[in-house]
Amino acid sequence: MSTVELGHVVVVGGGLAAARSCEQLREQGHAGRITLIAAEAHLPYDRPPLSKDVLLGELDATTLRVDYEALKIDVRQRVRATGLRPTERVLVTDGGEIPYDGAILATGANPIRMPGEGEQLTLRTLDDALTLRQRLVPGARVVVIGASWIGAEVATAARTRGCQVTCVELDALPLARLMGDDVGKRIVSWWDGIDLRLGTAVAAVESGGVQLADGTLLPADVVVTGVGVRPATAWLEGSGLELDRGVVTDEWLRAAPGIVAVGDLAAWWSRRYDTRMRVEHWDDASGGPGVAVAALLAPGLGETPPHDPVPYFWSDQLGHKLQYVGRHTESDQLIWRERENGSWTALWLAPDGKLAAALIADLPRENAQAQMAIMRGLVLDPTSLADPAVPLTKAVRPE
Ligand SMILES: Cc1cc2nc3c(=O)[nH]c(=O)nc-3n(C[C@H](O)[C@H](O)[C@H](O)COP(=O)(O)OP(=O)(O)OC[C@H]3O[C@@H](n4cnc5c(N)ncnc54)[C@H](O)[C@@H]3O)c2cc1C
Repeated sequence: MSTVELGHVVVVGGGLAAARSCEQLREQGHAGRITLIAAEAHLPYDRPPLSKDVLLGELDATTLRVDYEALKIDVRQRVRATGLRPTERVLVTDGGEIPYDGAILATGANPIRMPGEGEQLTLRTLDDALTLRQRLVPGARVVVIGASWIGAEVATAARTRGCQVTCVELDALPLARLMGDDVGKRIVSWWDGIDLRLGTAVAAVESGGVQLADGTLLPADVVVTGVGVRPATAWLEGSGLELDRGVVTDEWLRAAPGIVAVGDLAAWWSRRYDTRMRVEHWDDASGGPGVAVAALLAPGLGETPPHDPVPYFWSDQLGHKLQYVGRHTESDQLIWRERENGSWTALWLAPDGKLAAALIADLPRENAQAQMAIMRGLVLDPTSLADPAVPLTKAVRPE
């Protein structure tokens, strides 16, 4: 594969995707300068533990183990990128302009906020987690807006810390929009001990509590909004890069000559699913940089395989571990695989009999099997799949 000597590479962002990009640049032989531009005061850290171990008081820091000095990375913390001029190859920051030869964009995503003047906390950064943790004291009236991944994990921590927890969810069942009503019905009982208000719209967060659309005020000492994120593209407005719910890239995460985007920021083209994807999960931010760096260092690509993973994420919520692998649609057939201990796996079979996705509750080892069945494109038999004694990869439909 022919590579180019890039000179100076700037990595913009200070999260997992940025840290992995720095490592990958050196691992793949980039010998030139690397500058990491990171808005936060902390070195890149892991976010999944923020809503779990950090809120529960079991961890205070989650710094990723990267030896920036050994890798000769010039780390510039508390510096925010404010613009990019791709044709001149110049990054604009609040600390001045930085010329570059190659740029890796990894500014992640920002939480969506609700309207209203009242105090609402969100959970994206370590500082957010430490602030929220201090407020989760026994008896505190905590209202969580949204019963999806972050909302459920925050509600779990608040319940564990002895707060009086209310969670307001627009949909009729938790996770219904993403996983369907049947899954929602299964998990609704997990919310025991939390006042879960389903099918309830929030109008605004006001001082003293959450104003519902029907006019009711839910009194709260702490309001946490967990209704999703938007990719952090504002600083790229006017740069000429295509922005459409993320930085638009090709299958190799290339946004423009000499520019790649990774992690929660990247809206990449998936060959596997024949559609544009933006995956807001750890696995993608960890895996994408390998491909992006290869594409940056070898613009001719050679044998570089595209970024085309089977999406994977997990969530620890309400005393359960959920893992989801794949991608399903409403036309897929839902099959339940129930185990004697009450745990289960929901499987979605595509019309051609191949496994589209699996949601695994409390059996971590089943994830590898599901992933393998999806990657291999095995045509599976619904009856065997429903039998937990048959390993997923063995539940093959007879010829
Ligand atoms: C609380 C929480 C829990 C999670 N739990 C799970 C989980 O259980 N399982 C799972 O699969 N995924 C989970 N995720 C998702 C996962 O952490 C993200 O997908 C991953 O962090 C994305 O990494 P990233 O580097 O793309 O973006 P980020 O981690 O968001 O990092 C982007 C960084 O760029 C910086 N930045 C932004 N704008 C600028 C700028 N203009 N200039 C310079 N720097 C800038 C930001 O300050 C930030 O540090 C969780 C996320 C959160 C927030």
